[in-house]
Order: sequence, then structure tokens, then C-alpha cells
Amino acid sequence: MNHQAEKPTYEVLGPVERFDERDTVFARERLVPGSPEAHAYYSAHPGLVKIDQRLRKFIQSKEQASPDEAQTMSSALYQAVFGSVNHLALPDAVDGPTAPTRVDMTPAGAAQMVKTLAHYLGADLIRIGPLNQAWVYSHRGCPPFFEEYPANPPHYTGLEESYVDRRYGDPIHIPHRYAISLGFAQDLALIRTGPSSASDLEIGRVYARSALVAVQLARFIRALGYPARAHHMRNYGLLCVPVAVDAGMGELGRCGFLITKELGPNLRLSCVTTDLTMELDSPVDLGMQDFCRKCLKCSESCPARAIPRGEPVMVRGVRKWKIDEVKCLLYWSHTGSACSICQAVCPWTKSRTPFHNLMREIAVRMPAARSWLVKADAWVYGTPFRRRPVPAWLRTADRASKGKDRH
Ligand code: SF4
Ligand code: SF4
Repeated sequence: MNHQAEKPTYEVLGPVERFDERDTVFARERLVPGSPEAHAYYSAHPGLVKIDQRLRKFIQSKEQASPDEAQTMSSALYQAVFGSVNHLALPDAVDGPTAPTRVDMTPAGAAQMVKTLAHYLGADLIRIGPLNQAWVYSHRGCPPFFEEYPANPPHYTGLEESYVDRRYGDPIHIPHRYAISLGFAQDLALIRTGPSSASDLEIGRVYARSALVAVQLARFIRALGYPARAHHMRNYGLLCVPVAVDAGMGELGRCGFLITKELGPNLRLSCVTTDLTMELDSPVDLGMQDFCRKCLKCSESCPARAIPRGEPVMVRGVRKWKIDEVKCLLYWSHTGSACSICQAVCPWTKSRTPFHNLMREIAVRMPAARSWLVKADAWVYGTPFRRRPVPAWLRTADRASKGKDRH
């Protein structure tokens, strides 16, 4: 691939502190009020109690039936795409025994086979990199590892006690040397309707697909005789974005998402870690750090003011732009739907036409043209964000958020 760099474009300023999954908003909003886990967490973080109550209410509203027809339709769509992924999150779905006999492959042959299969299964972007242990979560925080969580179906119980890192608070240990990053494109027309039931549905559809492909690929590799574990939205053991940056899928942008040359930030990620030796891809330098300094479109379009306007800051040993994820998710709870405005407005989020491919090449190869490209994008596509209408077949569900302030 072009634009190869010797090292990733994020700046490491000191020892990188591993992130505790219990501190993610997605783990916090799943804490069961009154449980020992919730008591321990909020004793240490009393300032988060009220915020997390709001987030919890938002997620539960997505999963519960309601006397209101529009709300029920919205919830049913949400459960179809997000709820189904729970079944792919079981420890023995993401991981499992390795076949006793190994199939020998060259590193180049193994990489080729893995990429071809992942593409066939549905991944749009596939890159292979080293697994940096700094990106592995330090402790488990997300379900289905709350065994008492009411949404846990019975089949989450009875797992082998020897299975490590399955319970809340367990240290996470992923011994693998390599990580296969998988990127899945979102339908731009639906993402541009956000926040809406249509954007919710599309985000869930793509997350579900990314989960299934990761599970399938990990199982394939284990059947070849090599350890492999899938990581996806219902069972991550690591931070997918820096892992994908290390593998050369793109760079970390101002909006906190991975920005790729091909799809901009309009994608979702999953990952497979493994000990299968493969030829590795190189990190890339697309000029994104410079481009994001010249472009503030996501920050100016974010209705929650969650995306910074200034320079990157030091976060756990790495200099990067840091979004305020609490502000972001509180905005989601306010509108009743996941917001994807920052993904939709990014100048890199464009269809893959010859014209836009040419603009991508210019943006990467000609630093002097970047300011002009930012201005041209704002002029043609507008700032702030212009929300697109929800397709007719999803309008009943979208009425559930009607009347709520979206911008
Ligand atoms: S998802 Fe929406 S609220 Fe969150 S950072 Fe992006 S634009 Fe802002
Ligand atoms: S909208 Fe602009 S500043 Fe934000 S991530 Fe995209 S290129 Fe960077």
C-alpha cells in the first residue's frame, strides 16, 4: 500500500497506561444499580452516578417494549441488530479450542488467505499488524460478564470456571502476537439521517456484521491449528482504533474515530488476535494530523460540543484529540438515537467515485492543497450538518424521537 510510514502517526509521550474497560461509558451504563459492582464503582467515582443513570435509562428505553407503537417499532429494530450480537459475545463464541494439528503456511500465504476470506465474508478493509499490549484492556467491564444482569439469557451461565477474564473486574490477558483489523462500511445515505432510527439501525447492522465476520475468521484460524480470538462490539478485549492504526488501516482523527483513506470515519471495526504468523502491513501517514488541524468540521457540527477545537492532548501516555464521550452519549440519550453526525460530515466520508478518489489522492499527496479542500468541502456540502430525510419505511420508528431536539 502507498503512504507507508515507519511508525504510526500518534505521538507516544510516556509509558502508555492500559485502559480499564470498567471506565468505558458502555460498561458503566450496564452496571446494575444496587449490585456490589455498582457500589464499588460509584464509591470510587461518585461524580458519575447521575450521568450514568441518564445513560442507563437511554439504553434501557431502546430495549424495552412500550405502549407507544413508534417506540415499540424503534425498540424492535434496535433489538434485531444489536440484541442478536449478544449471542456472538459468549466466551466460547469469540474463542475456543485450537485444532491439535497445524496447517503450515508461509507468512505471505497466511496473510493472503486471511485477507481473501475476510473480504469474502464481508469485511471492506482488512489490515494485519502487531498486537501492542498497551491497547489491551486492563480489566473486564462489559456484559455479558455480569452474570446477574437481568438481560443475560440463561446460556451465559455454566461456562467453564477455567475460562479467564470472563467476569467483571477480571484482569484481561491476551497473549497473541498479531491483530487482524477488520473495517466495515456504513451506508452513507442512512448515516446522514442521524440521529434517527435509520442511523441507529445502520450502525447496529454494521456492528452485527463486523461481529459475525470476526467470530467466523477466528474460528477458521483455530481450525487451522492456531489460537485466535474475536473482538467485537459485545466483547472487546482491546481498543480497536489504535490496533487498526498500527496495522495501517488509517489514522486517528480529531473526531476520535479511525479515519481511513477509503471510507473516512464512516466504518465500524472488529478485530481478531492470533498467533498465526502472517506478513504484516505497515502503518500509514495520510497527512491526517495536518488535515484535521486545518479542518474543524466535525467539531463545528457536533451538537454536543464533544469534539475539541484545539490541539491534541496527552491521554494515558499518548498525544491525541480527546472527545468528551459523556457529552456525546448524553446527547444520544436526549435525542433517543445514536448520533453519527461527525462521521457523516467529515470531508473524508465520501462515496468512492473517480472524482472523490482523485480528491483523496490530492489530500494525501499535496499538503498545500488541504486548506483549499477543507474550504471547498464546506462550500459544496455545507457547514453545519444538513440532515437527510429518513426513508419512508423507517418513519414509524423515527416518530419515537420526533419532537426531540436533534441539533
Ligand atoms: S456522535 Fe454526535 S454527539 Fe457524539 S461526538 Fe459525534 S457529532 Fe458529537
Ligand atoms: S471532520 Fe475534519 S477535523 Fe474532523 S475528523 Fe474529519 S477531517 Fe478531521
